[in-house]
Amino acid sequence: MKLDATDLRYITSDEFRVLTAVEMGSKNHEVVPTVLIVQISGLRNGGVNKIMGSLAKRNLVAKVQNSKYDGYRLTYGGYDYLAMRALSKRDSMYSVGNQIGVGKESDIYIVADAEGNEMVLKLHRLGRISFRAIKEKRDYLGKRKSASWMYMSRLAAQKEWAFMKVLHEHGFPVPRPIDQARHCILMGFQDAYPLRQISEVPSPGKLYSELMDLIVRFAHAGLIHGDFNEFNILINRVTGDPVVIDFPQMVSTSHENAEWYFNRDVECIRTFFRRRFRYESQLYPRFKSTLSEGAEKDQGDGFRLDVVVSASGFGRKEARILEEVSVDRFYHFRHSKTFLSSTWKLSKMIRRKRVTTVKRRRRKRKRTWERMKTKLSSMKSCQSNSS
Ligand code: ADP
Ligand code: MG
Repeated sequence: MKLDATDLRYITSDEFRVLTAVEMGSKNHEVVPTVLIVQISGLRNGGVNKIMGSLAKRNLVAKVQNSKYDGYRLTYGGYDYLAMRALSKRDSMYSVGNQIGVGKESDIYIVADAEGNEMVLKLHRLGRISFRAIKEKRDYLGKRKSASWMYMSRLAAQKEWAFMKVLHEHGFPVPRPIDQARHCILMGFQDAYPLRQISEVPSPGKLYSELMDLIVRFAHAGLIHGDFNEFNILINRVTGDPVVIDFPQMVSTSHENAEWYFNRDVECIRTFFRRRFRYESQLYPRFKSTLSEGAEKDQGDGFRLDVVVSASGFGRKEARILEEVSVDRFYHFRHSKTFLSSTWKLSKMIRRKRVTTVKRRRRKRKRTWERMKTKLSSMKSCQSNSS
């Protein structure tokens, strides 16, 4: 979806008021009744109708004719707009440039401040693949019956922001966090390529150990990235140093499945290096020994960033809600090509095993039959001898 920055500056205050009213109404209504919009905005009925028309024309809201009532729904465009307006009011950003990435759950744009300094704007789009799943889990969301994509995307942005800030403050190689509003994050631009796009590096061994050291450093601080792969590791164009991005799925090392996440991160790097650079090393971090090393180093001064983050406003409840959705991402994974092809391989293996078992049984039966035959013939010869 194209972002339009020109609109940012050309919206009347009444239009803004009505748009905000739709957003507020969305907290409890999937489709906000027009009467409620009138009520919240405090404007005249006729005025609101006209403004809704012009907002709908600009795709900031969408008219929905419900069986029970007519109303409006805030669109992604409208939500993007509100977030960008907040950022530009705070002078964090001024103009929007090209889109540089479409992640599975985000859109990434180059933006600039008033001085023309380039930054990166990440808009979270969590509902894109798991909206139906969220709807099925409504009881989890308590009163927020229509929490939906807006709420989930905002939670993802808040989580990513909390982690990026803490990691940056503690000297981890992550982009510089600049600002956050609703479902958006503004961060420093990295002049870098994703590792995925790199076919050659001067020393794969060096990069490999840098990345494994990073996993260990995260774990010593009580954290696991959770999606540590060639898409989320950027390599600086000049220095060749790695930069890590994408934190909405980070977990604490005290998470119940921490070891599984940790091993998956390690395995992602090993597999990638084996395939891309034909590099394989016997050295890679193990969860338990990494943690005990960390505890030794720590000596009680409490360098636990997972604790720092949950104290910084992104609490356990929010983390659990987000996680519920990411569980559903595994559902999507189970139906994805990668998974299906892996199960196909598995079923082939099982079939092969079954074939060999059948062959072995047949051979065994044949052998027994031969033995019985010889026995029988020897008995016969014995009988004929005695008679
Ligand atoms: P998603 O959560 O959708 O995977 P990411 O945060 O991983 O989104 O970003 C997707 C892509 O956008 C990355 O692979 C990278 O190419 C680009 N990107 C993201 N953040 C930056 C940044 N700070 N500087 C430069 N490029 C970035
Ligand atoms: Mg990513």
